[in-house]
Amino acid sequence: MDQNQSILANEDQHLAQASRIKYFDIVIDHGQGATVTDADGKTYLDLLASASATNTGHSHPKVVEAITKQAQKLIQYTPAYFSNTATAALVERLAAIAPGDFEKEVAFGNSGSDANDAIIKFARAYTKRPYVVSFTGAYHGSTFGSMSMSAVSLNMTRKMGPLLPGMVKVPYPDQHQRRLGESDDEFSERMFEQFRLPFETYLPADEVALVEIEAIQGDGGIVKAPQRYMDLVYEFTRQHGIVFAVDEVNQGLGRTGKMWSIDHFGIAPDLIAVGKSIASGLPLSAVIGRKEIMESLDAPANVYTTAGNPVAAAAALATLDVIEEEKLAERSGQLGIKAKKFFDEAAKKYNFIGDVRLYGFNGGIDIVDADGQPDVDATTKLIYRIYELGAIMISLRGSTLRFQPPLVMTDEQLDQSLAIIDQAFGELAAGKLALPQTANHIGW
Ligand code: PMP
Repeated sequence: MDQNQSILANEDQHLAQASRIKYFDIVIDHGQGATVTDADGKTYLDLLASASATNTGHSHPKVVEAITKQAQKLIQYTPAYFSNTATAALVERLAAIAPGDFEKEVAFGNSGSDANDAIIKFARAYTKRPYVVSFTGAYHGSTFGSMSMSAVSLNMTRKMGPLLPGMVKVPYPDQHQRRLGESDDEFSERMFEQFRLPFETYLPADEVALVEIEAIQGDGGIVKAPQRYMDLVYEFTRQHGIVFAVDEVNQGLGRTGKMWSIDHFGIAPDLIAVGKSIASGLPLSAVIGRKEIMESLDAPANVYTTAGNPVAAAAALATLDVIEEEKLAERSGQLGIKAKKFFDEAAKKYNFIGDVRLYGFNGGIDIVDADGQPDVDATTKLIYRIYELGAIMISLRGSTLRFQPPLVMTDEQLDQSLAIIDQAFGELAAGKLALPQTANHIGW
């Protein structure tokens, strides 16, 4: 048995199955830039950075240096009670870089999930209203509040109900809802009618605290709402005094070719949730938003012992420096253009490639059967073959290839990654790929 197998065999005896979405039998030993190496010494290209929270790549020297220096100075003294230099500097920096030309405040958390819970708290407290509106296909997290706003997988909620009361879902304008030949504006207006339906039938707008959206859905398949739809929803929240929040946990921090995914729409949300890559993978999240909303709660309404931890804060400051100095948002755009060209050409060549969506270095590529329906088996064959060939890529909702490499990936590494994917596409088309016996079907 190799190292990967024996470590996993032991771990499997004690790890709760609910806490890992299983793909390949791999144990990651170390990572550098856009690659990771397993316990047996095999190195893989990492095409999964936005999920694993490493937009700036693995062990970026500047981030490592900042973490090391801070750890030597102070690892933790709870920011829930006392400030420290790293946390204080990060508060100022986050308030400055969040979208919106208004006064902002910051509340820290440990995960994207608890940041979204905090958004519910602040919005309810500020508006003194109970209801929360979110979207189908949304993933906001795994705590009770954030999972009650999510709608992407039955396994996320099965056996755990009832969810938080007052949570209403409206359909996200995703590509499957679009009618043939419909323009962006026609599509937006039709979907906005669906958004309004609950408000006309059972949901008084003046009892709604919050509308939270992913400007580009991440786990929902890398799906971007049309501009007019976003404008209409935003305008609706202005008319009715509803807090408008955007979840940037997956799509923020340069991933989409701009610093924030909502920057594509020219809208400044009242609140944003930030997490994942903010501290290059150390546990840290934040809600950043309008001062008057953030002032609506008193301590200890949203304190956590390690939220804003100094080492994570130092890592976040270094991460933000790297994003700025290395112009990673721009770089994401450039790499994305090259990747999109590849996937668009592949889609012309292969019938099993359905819709191709790339916004920056950030893609969702639908894999479909002969009837154009989602093909989980073919997707599984592809990702396992890509893995064998040396790149780690997973699926979204079972049948969409998720392409989100670190933004520090070199051109050569991108070429290598695309060559691997191309080979797997070719082999699938030639009927050469079988479903691996060990394959885990992930239908979420
Ligand atoms: N929001 C979005 C948009 C996410 O993609 C995720 C994680 N996939 C979360 C929130 C939850 O973040 P975490 O796993 O850090 O709790």
